[in-house]
Amino acid sequence: MKLQSLADLFQHELQDIYDAEYRIARALEKSAKHITDPKLKKAAEAHLEETETQIERLEQIFESTGITRKRKVCKGIQGILEEAEEVLASDSTPEALDAAMIAGMQRVEHYEIAAYGCAISYAKMLGEKDAEKLLKKTRDEEEKTDKKLTKLAEQGINEKALISDDQHMQVAM
Ligand code: FE
Ligand code: FE
Repeated sequence: MKLQSLADLFQHELQDIYDAEYRIARALEKSAKHITDPKLKKAAEAHLEETETQIERLEQIFESTGITRKRKVCKGIQGILEEAEEVLASDSTPEALDAAMIAGMQRVEHYEIAAYGCAISYAKMLGEKDAEKLLKKTRDEEEKTDKKLTKLAEQGINEKALISDDQHMQVAM
């Protein structure tokens, strides 16, 4: 990898997040099928749609900046998604699984918020105004999704997992 300037770094960030978004879309599609809570399922499906738009935005940016449209394996997201896969494969109650899906999705959102935040700064420095605008749109969606997930967790889903815990203990006793 050639990394000798801010322009190189901008390219690296864009190609990395481009790969990440594809992986995230696939994971959201799969997770949505395993989620029980209807509100959470809806949130995952809505964010899947947003993610597809975010991929298109990145393609617009590749177009307008002349940066090669390419997926560079995003190991960070790969790892986060592997952890979520482990959760899906585990012996879990539907309630605990929903709560765990939120934890996984929020890890993803925070990664994205960091990546887009940096890319926005680089776009600004490089005078890439259109790119900056598009990246901000996506960053705002990621932030909104993160907040929505916190709300869903704290206004019911975590509590349901707690209750399912108690029921499990009663059965065990
Ligand atoms: Fe995204
Ligand atoms: Fe996202």
